[in-house]
Amino acid sequence: MIMKNEIVESNCPNCNIGIKWTNDYPERPFCSVRCKNNDFIGWANEEKTIAGNPSYEDIFSEDGA
Ligand SMILES: [Zn+2]
Repeated sequence: MIMKNEIVESNCPNCNIGIKWTNDYPERPFCSVRCKNNDFIGWANEEKTIAGNPSYEDIFSEDGA
């Protein structure tokens, strides 16, 4: 029996810790609110671009269509 919704694993963009794409991580793709805020502050201070994030592209391409 194959689960229809596989749990996607990802990495926190801030600290790179492994997380799972589940409700256990409401701040996903971040591991915690702290990392989420850290990243947001980073965005505000310097316009950094996320170039190529393979994990996300996989998620969307598999779920799309
Ligand atoms: Zn983190």
